[in-house]
Amino acid sequence: MGLITHHMAYVRPRSVEEAADALSSRPDSARVLAGGQSLIPLMKLELSQPELLVDIAGIAELDDVRDRPDGTIEIGAMVRHARLQSDPTIRRRLPLLSEVAGLVADPQIRTLGTLGGSLAHADPAGDYCMLALALDAQILTNRREIPATDFFLGPFTTPLDAGEMVLGVRLPASDDEHAFVKITRLPFDSGVPAVVVQRLDGVWRIGLTNLGHGHARARAVEAALAAGATPGEAVEHGWTDIEEITDQPVPLTYRVHMARVLTRRALDRAESRGRTSP
Ligand SMILES: Cc1cc2nc3c(=O)[nH]c(=O)nc-3n(C[C@H](O)[C@H](O)[C@H](O)COP(=O)(O)OP(=O)(O)OC[C@H]3O[C@@H](n4cnc5c(N)ncnc54)[C@H](O)[C@@H]3O)c2cc1C
Repeated sequence: MGLITHHMAYVRPRSVEEAADALSSRPDSARVLAGGQSLIPLMKLELSQPELLVDIAGIAELDDVRDRPDGTIEIGAMVRHARLQSDPTIRRRLPLLSEVAGLVADPQIRTLGTLGGSLAHADPAGDYCMLALALDAQILTNRREIPATDFFLGPFTTPLDAGEMVLGVRLPASDDEHAFVKITRLPFDSGVPAVVVQRLDGVWRIGLTNLGHGHARARAVEAALAAGATPGEAVEHGWTDIEEITDQPVPLTYRVHMARVLTRRALDRAESRGRTSP
């Protein structure tokens, strides 16, 4: 990968307002710099050439985890993968999120990469995007709250406007049965789905990467489980409701097959954990 040769300005604001002003000053060519783990490689490849980098690492309020009395947790955009993996509140209140964070990339990327950057980047292989979709998370920006179903519009596509930035995410807390399954022997962009399953208020939620608009809910499988099907029966229920718009290197038939296999595996793992926990 090459050097970054184009000229750009760089600012490191101390508040959300300063950051938003900087972004609005160059609506077409300013970019947020969070952990830099996706943006810097894109800049080296000359696939992204921002004229202004707005480095939000100095905004303390974005590095916060809040356990809220209404049964949700709010996590700031600058909370990094390593903290998501180890933070005691997250491990206790939403252990699935810690489990997902623990399998993101490698220790170097987990030390630098952030939750907000992952959501805003909306890579079809991005693990937090499917988790946000499965749990009906709200994406919090400096202008509005966006339900996850309206946020992930397609591969690398979100409704964020110029001058708008992700401040954090609000997720329902749950330590009920859950599991995360992905094939870690393959590279990040292998195109094979990963899956999260979480029981929430007695109902299974299932999210997948690399399917549909980039990420997908397996709603037919969820409905079959709610109607009393076993995991083995439920995963045979339609994947056809997942509208496929991605242009993926891996054939759809293979991805759907892997989605079925990995979802079954995740449900079995979650249920067996539920039987063994005190
Ligand atoms: C080799 C490799 C392996 C990886 N493996 C995985 C994996 O297994 N699972 C996984 O989920 N991810 C994986 N990733 C991606 C990694 O998680 C990145 O950290 C993440 O995609 C981007 O986070 P970041 O903080 O580094 O964002 P940056 O690189 O700083 O930014 C990414 C994009 O999001 C925008 N952005 C960042 N923050 C905000 C914000 N708060 N508001 C608005 N826009 C914002 C930036 O302008 C940029 O366009 C991998 C990346 C690499 C390079």
